[in-house]
Amino acid sequence: MASTATAFDGGDINVIISNVLDDNWLDSGEVSQDSGEEEGGGSLDSGENASFWKVQRCLVEEFIEVGNSDESKLQQDVIGALKIARSSEFCTCGGGPCTACLKHEVAHLLRVSGYDAALCKSKWRTTKHIPKGKHEYLDLILANGSRLIIELDFRAEFEIARSSQDYHNLVNLLPEVYIGKPTT
Ligand SMILES: [Zn+2]
Repeated sequence: MASTATAFDGGDINVIISNVLDDNWLDSGEVSQDSGEEEGGGSLDSGENASFWKVQRCLVEEFIEVGNSDESKLQQDVIGALKIARSSEFCTCGGGPCTACLKHEVAHLLRVSGYDAALCKSKWRTTKHIPKGKHEYLDLILANGSRLIIELDFRAEFEIARSSQDYHNLVNLLPEVYIGKPTT
């Protein structure tokens, strides 16, 4: 009962990548940034550190490949819709440009283009590693009945201030828009 999501939990993707990235940040970023007293301090030597990042890179690349296979046309349409939405007065809540309204508008534009797209919410409870939260994502059903989830601004979810260069490089591997199959 960890999840209160409806059919599936769109937060899963973020959670998986968060776990990879959080580990990286804790293992190397923190050490290198706050080690005023410790000369050359770090829990990993440079060889171990390099292979550590190599492994993380492989994990992320593998993850992206699985998620994005055969969806390039859709991806282009989503990125196109995102651009159109951003250049319009998409915010209807009166609270200034906000992500919720942006997602809403992209879902609308995709429906206008003939896609069966809807905005969905997922919520999850606090666990040992993750504070509780909620997340909105696009849910799309293809003509063949298969279901996809779309995360707009996917990369931005993982950008953090004062990140290490390794972390930054890893985050840059992530697509701006993520399209993948829901977990079952
Ligand atoms: Zn708004």
